Amino acid sequence: MAGLLYLCPTPIGNLSDISKRVLSTLNEVDLIAAEDTRNSMKLMNAFDIHVPMTSYHEYNKTQKAYELIDRLKEGKNIALITDAGTPGISDPGEVLVRMCHDEGITVTSLPGPCACIVALTLSGLPTRRFCFEGFLPADKKERNEVLEDLKKEYRTIVLYEAPHHLKNTLSELKSVLGGDRKAALCRELTKKFEEVMRFTLSEACEYYDAKEPKGEYVLVIEGIDRNAEKEESKKSWMEISVREHMQHYLDSGIDKKEAMKKVAKDRGIPKNEVYRELLSEDMN
Ligand code: SAM
Repeated sequence: MAGLLYLCPTPIGNLSDISKRVLSTLNEVDLIAAEDTRNSMKLMNAFDIHVPMTSYHEYNKTQKAYELIDRLKEGKNIALITDAGTPGISDPGEVLVRMCHDEGITVTSLPGPCACIVALTLSGLPTRRFCFEGFLPADKKERNEVLEDLKKEYRTIVLYEAPHHLKNTLSELKSVLGGDRKAALCRELTKKFEEVMRFTLSEACEYYDAKEPKGEYVLVIEGIDRNAEKEESKKSWMEISVREHMQHYLDSGIDKKEAMKKVAKDRGIPKNEVYRELLSEDMN
């Protein structure tokens, strides 16, 4: 019988955040695949775990996945861990999981620390709907496309960033999303100097003009405010007369009844008021 692949989340800064279930799984598997074996050795030493480790990282993720799958098919159980947090979130874990599914190997994911969720819940921004972007792409064209998509995003946005890229990313975000957009910069989560700085994007840029970012960061940014957007659009319609507004829709081929409905909706008024306005404009 084939073995199981266990995705085991590890602490993102505070060793006490490892679960009992992760510890017992790490102790019981035949092999631990780790992003950086030297880094993970510290964790193994801290918890007195003595299970063989092998490396599974960005640069061997496909080739090594075949080797791990062979071991799983032989009946060995394997735990996947990354440098910190939940395997598969902004790290090579997703490739191994996909390949295991393709090969009919059972994968199970243990719940645990994830910087995205810790930051989102701490941010003070809406948590009901959010989108996780991980790291913005390094490729300029792809990056600009993602930024343009984020400009239209209504949900709260969560991004990962390295400290040496933070200033540049903040300034790009400010120029695409606008300086007034609210953001929470969550740094050193679960560590001694954990901090949540709530800024607008302009304020965040100003703050880091005079200071070098240090530590690990998650950026949580508010999505577009639907009500403010509606108000903005209503304001722009109010700059033209009801007749001009009607004409705009009639010119686009919409019939009179439908045009009246749309005008009423755009201006936030009842249809009979549109009718009355048209009559009074006619009389003037
Ligand atoms: N798999 C991990 C997870 O579940 O969160 C994320 C791995 S990703 C390679 C590393 C990024 O996660 C960092 O650049 C940073 O943006 C974020 N991160 C990880 N630990 C963090 C911490 N303690 N505080 C703030 N951000 C952290």
